[in-house]
Amino acid sequence: MTARVLVVGAAGKMGRAVQDAAVGREDVKIAGTVDQGDDVAAALAGCDVYIDFSTPAATLAAARAAIGAKRAAIIGTTGLGADAEPLFAELAKVAPVVVAANFSLGVNLMLGLVRQAARALGPAWDAEVVETHHKAKRDAPSGTALAIARSIAAGHGVDYDSVKRHTRDGDVGPRPRGEIGVATLRGGDVVGEHVAYFFGEHERIEIAHRATSRGIFATGALVAAAWAVGKPPGRYTMLDVLGLPS
Ligand code: NAD
Repeated sequence: MTARVLVVGAAGKMGRAVQDAAVGREDVKIAGTVDQGDDVAAALAGCDVYIDFSTPAATLAAARAAIGAKRAAIIGTTGLGADAEPLFAELAKVAPVVVAANFSLGVNLMLGLVRQAARALGPAWDAEVVETHHKAKRDAPSGTALAIARSIAAGHGVDYDSVKRHTRDGDVGPRPRGEIGVATLRGGDVVGEHVAYFFGEHERIEIAHRATSRGIFATGALVAAAWAVGKPPGRYTMLDVLGLPS
């Protein structure tokens, strides 16, 4: 079966990458596109699933429309506020919902690797994440960096919000044991780089992922769209889509 896909944020960098990546695929076809000013509810009527790489406000509006239309959702927008999660939970009661800060196979594998490393090494090895993105990116730290940092916290068996450190400026004092730092670089046309550091005494481990094309996220989102159509309503992750252990 060919899944009919609506692209939300179709004129953006990712929206265009999704349309490019769909060319020649048999499991999906682009059946509609919307950007600012278009009626997403009307467009959903002719589609089985929508892929959303837009803005936080547009993502909330699309999810509200999808609840009414009972349409499968593949959501990649980052920088979402606290109001997004309850809405996604509402949508997941009537349709399959895949939310991922990063749709690449490599990054999803990395989430498992950092959790394994954190579990094995413990908080005695200082964990820091550094992310680099192009200069047009609006939100910081990246959703992927946060997902990596949360995986490290899960490996340490702690609540991320109680150990996170997103900025250091001035006399911040010595680094507390168990802190998880996230630092952000912005510049040029970098598609996305994430490095997780584990600093021990006289040794360190680095686990890194470097994306060189948006095509990996676009293809991952299309794979998720084809996978989601026909699945029971519920919340899913890319680990479910890729068949990786969660
Ligand atoms: P972009 O600014 O190039 O594109 C965003 C698009 O959304 C624009 O065309 C804009 O006009 C459109 N838009 C704004 N309001 C809208 C509305 N009400 N309805 C429909 N469309 C609307 O940004 P981008 O680089 O394509 O990234 C988009 C989002 O995807 C960002 O949050 C980014 O962080 C995220 N992203 C996620 C992944 C992932 O794998 N999950 C990968 C790359 C980017």
